[in-house]
Amino acid sequence: MKRVYNFSAGPAVLPEPVLKKVQDELLNYRETGMSVMELSHRSAPFQNIIEEAQGLLRELLSIPDDYRVVFMQGGASLQFSMIPLNLLGEGQGADYIVTGSWSKKAVKEAEKVGDIRTLSLKEPFEIPVYTPEDFSPESSYVHITSNNTIEGTRFHKYPDTGRIPLIADMSSHILSEKIDVSSFGLIYAGAQKNLGPSGVTVAIIRDSLIGKAPDTCPTMMNYETYVKHDSLFNTPPTFSIYVLKLVLEWVKENGGVEGMQEHNERKAALLYNCIDESSLFHNPVPEKNRSLMNIPFSTGNDELDADFLKGAKAEGFEFLKGHRSVGGMRASLYNAMPLEGVKSLVDFMKKFESDRGG
Ligand code: PLP
Repeated sequence: MKRVYNFSAGPAVLPEPVLKKVQDELLNYRETGMSVMELSHRSAPFQNIIEEAQGLLRELLSIPDDYRVVFMQGGASLQFSMIPLNLLGEGQGADYIVTGSWSKKAVKEAEKVGDIRTLSLKEPFEIPVYTPEDFSPESSYVHITSNNTIEGTRFHKYPDTGRIPLIADMSSHILSEKIDVSSFGLIYAGAQKNLGPSGVTVAIIRDSLIGKAPDTCPTMMNYETYVKHDSLFNTPPTFSIYVLKLVLEWVKENGGVEGMQEHNERKAALLYNCIDESSLFHNPVPEKNRSLMNIPFSTGNDELDADFLKGAKAEGFEFLKGHRSVGGMRASLYNAMPLEGVKSLVDFMKKFESDRGG
């Protein structure tokens, strides 16, 4: 069976060796005589899986000892609520840098809890460098979306927030390039792009931000619950955590985060060069803020875009349609997208352009 090149923004392509391993182990996980889906979350084999997943993430991101790794449900979207519910006490507020649609959604939830100040961009695709003076000194934290899945932008330099904890939604680029975890108070990501299947959400939280939730915070919304119970307070998404662990093993076997970054830079350069050299396709993002993961482009003509998408689908390139709010095309080049996939897409784009006399 031929697998297509899947450019979806998420749920997204998974490494083929991971899927094969899942298939091999599906009916009988390591001689247990049952599927990993059927294992009790309190059993020794599952305890090993969750511990190994945590350990691998710590190793791959060099997570310092004063940070906890937790696995939750509810997607990155639930984090939009959990963060303010945990970190904003009575009368407290936070600063949110709004770089796109997902930041706006985070703001909407936070505003239900506390006093939120937003910092907007002057130019939609240009993310400036922020310094401590940009933030209100009383702010409990500063929130960013470090990679903007829809707009195709990312921070080329993370904000310097001084003593205020920096919180980042890394859903669409965690493990794609090196980061210094110690410069963040909290990092979170839904799994379904670079980490595994949907259903599990990862957070990496500095100890000093745990145990701050007011008594009114529901138990399942309190980070302390997950930390105290090693993410096993209730039944976690066991199958998703198992596949996430296999994805982390694959990342490690393929050069770790550094290996991923090198691979991602090569892939992104191929596509950006093709767009920049083309007289048909266009990407609006200034070079320094270009995402390595999500690359929107268009011809500027809806009919031509639709033609392109139709032709691309016929050639086995799936989910290239841009987000409904921006239109055009978007190629998501997550860690598991092979270089050959990008090369084939570029060849197709060149042919499409030359067939139209470009
Ligand atoms: N944040 C970012 C940057 C995203 O790209 C997405 C989904 O694409 C979300 C949040 C929402 O994630 P979820 O569907 O896991 O709630």
